[in-house]
Amino acid sequence: MDIGGKNYFYLDNIEFDSEFDSGSLAKAQKIGQEYWIYTSRDASKSSAKSWFYFRVKCRELRCLQLRIKSLGYHSKMLQEGLKPVFKDEGGKWGRIPEEVGSCKGELGLELFFEHQMTANVVYFALYYPYSYTDCQNFLCNLESVSYPFYFRRENLTSSFEGRRCDLLLVSSFEDIKEDQGRVVSENKKAVVVSARVHAGETPSSYVMQAVLEFLLGNDPRAEALRNHFVFYIVPMLNPDGVSRGNLRLDTLGQDLNRTYNSTSPEKCPTIFALKNLLQELRQEIYCFIDLHAHASIKGIFTFGNLMKDFKQQIESALFPKFMELNSPNFHWKQCSFKDNTEQTDKPGNRVGTARTFGHLCTGIPRVYTLECNYNSGFKVNETYPSNLEESPYSDHKSYVYSNGPPLYDTEIFEETGKSVCVSILDMIDKNPFSRLKNSPFKDLETFKIHVAEQLAGIPPFRYYNTLRHLCKSKYSLKEILRGKVSVVLSSTESSK
Ligand SMILES: [Zn+2]
Repeated sequence: MDIGGKNYFYLDNIEFDSEFDSGSLAKAQKIGQEYWIYTSRDASKSSAKSWFYFRVKCRELRCLQLRIKSLGYHSKMLQEGLKPVFKDEGGKWGRIPEEVGSCKGELGLELFFEHQMTANVVYFALYYPYSYTDCQNFLCNLESVSYPFYFRRENLTSSFEGRRCDLLLVSSFEDIKEDQGRVVSENKKAVVVSARVHAGETPSSYVMQAVLEFLLGNDPRAEALRNHFVFYIVPMLNPDGVSRGNLRLDTLGQDLNRTYNSTSPEKCPTIFALKNLLQELRQEIYCFIDLHAHASIKGIFTFGNLMKDFKQQIESALFPKFMELNSPNFHWKQCSFKDNTEQTDKPGNRVGTARTFGHLCTGIPRVYTLECNYNSGFKVNETYPSNLEESPYSDHKSYVYSNGPPLYDTEIFEETGKSVCVSILDMIDKNPFSRLKNSPFKDLETFKIHVAEQLAGIPPFRYYNTLRHLCKSKYSLKEILRGKVSVVLSSTESSK
């Protein structure tokens, strides 16, 4: 077992350390005028390294010359201009204001910059941190409020190292009963949202936080969501990895999002517990979204599953298309739908992921991995008015987007979380303030026809001759949507 990146160094009257929640630093040394910082590996054989989060303490306010060595995983976006973040003790996180240079070193990418200290204690990190303690504090705050609707926080299970893996339940009081610790509803479907299976993917926690704040808030759309669904939220699936300051893996060096097909209750208790929850709820689940962050593919987008029935595929594509309608930052063009159910030993095999297991277990089409690039996207969507007062981050015409796609900071992820909630409501056509009415599509059926046409233009669907032919006719698409014609996507029919 790797000891992780908790270390302390005293160099030239300056203390460097990572001995706090989510902190990570393998080594610090002074070379000339520079302080060299080495990142830690998640596990001894892992290539996952580049998360760093350390504290510098010094009595005099110096101009620090820092060189971060051995950055592997995030090199693409660092070369594209992603700047690390810093925070004075008691202050707020922000990107390093000084120029950040990069070069290829013998251990991988290196970043170098000078930073003028304005406080005696400064924290530096690869990206906006969101620690296990941050999550616990946030949940304790939520719990301290009494709500006029159903809210429950429980420990779904304890992690391998004994940390909490929380489960939050949110719904209106109507049609809800507690039976032997379980929530039972006759008519309400369940929505399951999880995050931070990959330890360093902190953007997913900002999305998650916004999802919870929206669901527990006064927005009329939140009320409609509570009236129609029971939400099951698991904010941190890998609390040990997060606390240790890992980039991706857990304490045992496992990628937990590859263990859904072979889960050991002893080695991966949190995944085991979430699987049990999914299996218990099964047909009651309306959708399941696992939140992540992506280091190389730009934008905010989803990975979904490939359906055999095209009508089901349209249902599956509805969520990302509504995200595109609701969020200026969502990138439909980056979305894909793949069949990952085949058990192979090939690298890139996704049979053990939440989205594959979630679909196989429930049979529902609405199972997704939602990915946020850490740094930026390449386009801004046109959004339509919701007839409610929205934040400037939700409005493509606001100053936020006046220079094109913005850098992704926490506000963009918060906007994404809110759009996730609104899009779920749009899918069941119960949004009293839907942007759909103010869009060219006007109603759900017209929108679904648009979704089908869009699907028919992307791989693998565009290789199906029958489908391509059918999708040229709005009449045929209506027949598919109404279940009068069924299109089965058999592998032999594809012309590719
Ligand atoms: Zn991930």
